[in-house]
Amino acid sequence: MSLMAEWAEPGAHPAADGVFRVPLSMPSDGLHAVNVYAVETGDGLALVDGGWRTPTGLGELTSALAGVGHDVSSIHDVYVTHIHRDHYTLAVELRRRFGTRVHLGRDEAPGLPQLLEIASNVPVTSLQQLRRSGDPALAEVVEAMAAGEPFDADAWEKPDIWLEPGEYAVGTRLLEAVATPGHTKGHLVYHDLEAGILFAGDHLLPTISPSIGFELGEWELPLASYLTSLEAILRRPDARLFPAHGAPGPSAHARATELLEHHEVRLGETSRVLEDAGATTAAGVARKLTWTRRRRGYDELDDFNKMIATCETIAHLDVLVARGSAQVLPDPDGAIFSLV
Ligand SMILES: [Zn+2]
Repeated sequence: MSLMAEWAEPGAHPAADGVFRVPLSMPSDGLHAVNVYAVETGDGLALVDGGWRTPTGLGELTSALAGVGHDVSSIHDVYVTHIHRDHYTLAVELRRRFGTRVHLGRDEAPGLPQLLEIASNVPVTSLQQLRRSGDPALAEVVEAMAAGEPFDADAWEKPDIWLEPGEYAVGTRLLEAVATPGHTKGHLVYHDLEAGILFAGDHLLPTISPSIGFELGEWELPLASYLTSLEAILRRPDARLFPAHGAPGPSAHARATELLEHHEVRLGETSRVLEDAGATTAAGVARKLTWTRRRRGYDELDDFNKMIATCETIAHLDVLVARGSAQVLPDPDGAIFSLV
């Protein structure tokens, strides 16, 4: 059994006045749990993020809320940060049972039919990128793995409301939905300016950097979007950070700054690998970088995480190209990158 992280202890933990943090366990996943935030509105609850429709998810949510005197059926709205299953699919289940309204960012709209079409937990765009990475064998392994994994097609339905960025009244609060593309195209964070709280979804995670390049739809420089979205956080008033995975923290600005620095360091490391190698594929670069906070070698990663690592390497290489410091040469076995 893996050691449970302290923040992932079950229950409804008071996080701010009228706001509870409810961690819901995640099956076989290094993230431990996903936080949904329950906001008291006077006539029930609104959630920020819905959680994952797992066999235990609804029961965990129900008993956590009961512990603070709330009935799960009083959830009237769910404001979802992004389309990933651990944030969205339990919201759909709540709607079926209780008529809860589900809100999701407008720019996730193209991803939803694509998910159903490919009926796979691995986006087809990531597989295309893997083929471009110079390691087509990894693409095949990951594709076969995804095909053998159950896909919960029943968990995916359209939201009631496709949200535009802007202000929404949630009980007596105003939540401002702020577009933060990067981790996904239509990612939103919800900022309560008056309370000084930022519900950050996966945009700002306290101890890890969110995956970039695990992408639905067209490949549109996801890292460049992500860096721009980090800068957008710094242009807003600072707020307490309420992340989807991990413990709340005192400053969204501090974490956004750290993540910007992290990616500049990675871009520098990526450049140095290109400098040493002369010209190489993204897979070649990924193998020379270290991964995870423990700086593990690429070969220590499992196939799924090799895919994440390789897609993220492509995302970094593409930013170097966009900045004019690297160039890409097409090649039948993928793309070859070199410094300019
Ligand atoms: Zn996510």
